[in-house]
Amino acid sequence: MKSKSTKIRFNKKYIAFFACVPILLIFSSLTAKCPVCEGTGHLSSTPDMKYVQLISSDFKELQISRDVCTTYIVYSYTITLTLKNDGNTDTKGYAKAILKSYSKGSILDSQYLPVNIPKQSTIEEQYDIAFRATGLDQAEAAKVEVQLESGDFDCKICSGSGKISINSWLLAKTLQNSYKEISIVEHQYTPAAYLPPDIEDGEIIYIPPPESASPALLSQDQNSYNGGD
Ligand SMILES: [Zn+2]
Repeated sequence: MKSKSTKIRFNKKYIAFFACVPILLIFSSLTAKCPVCEGTGHLSSTPDMKYVQLISSDFKELQISRDVCTTYIVYSYTITLTLKNDGNTDTKGYAKAILKSYSKGSILDSQYLPVNIPKQSTIEEQYDIAFRATGLDQAEAAKVEVQLESGDFDCKICSGSGKISINSWLLAKTLQNSYKEISIVEHQYTPAAYLPPDIEDGEIIYIPPPESASPALLSQDQNSYNGGD
């Protein structure tokens, strides 16, 4: 009886040890469709992204941890963006969040944040995001900088291949699921003072004020009319 109990404990210890290594190996060799670009390998912002401004970005550190049995350090943040769309169409696109070393300014990792801004409005969007920093002996203080991306570009998450390892997939999936719009239309868009001509059925029905008409031209037209009579 005693020897059986010892044997069971011995097995459990070895199961834990020998199971860990193969599982990590299998996970790093298995690939999955990239959840960020959905396997296409690239991302794009709609053309009207040029009318979108990043008013402010703010980040709050949630956690910095070394992932078990891996060589990278995971930095988790909540990022809040305030975005303004001056365009006349709802715009979808991406903002690039760049994790930088606070003291050296070197880039540690970057991620893409999906943004979705209704026309002529200002919104605030919030994300829970995880970065992976490699090549660090220990965690160092970091900061997050954000810039808007326009046009087409390769998906950074899968390096343009459309596929990522299962380990990376879990992190990418976290980002995808944590995106949320926390408030919408902080203030209604106010048109600028300039009022363009009214257009109805493709014809300009705007009538210029009398003082802008050329008196010389008017008198010439009048003379020509009188002359023909
Ligand atoms: Zn991708």
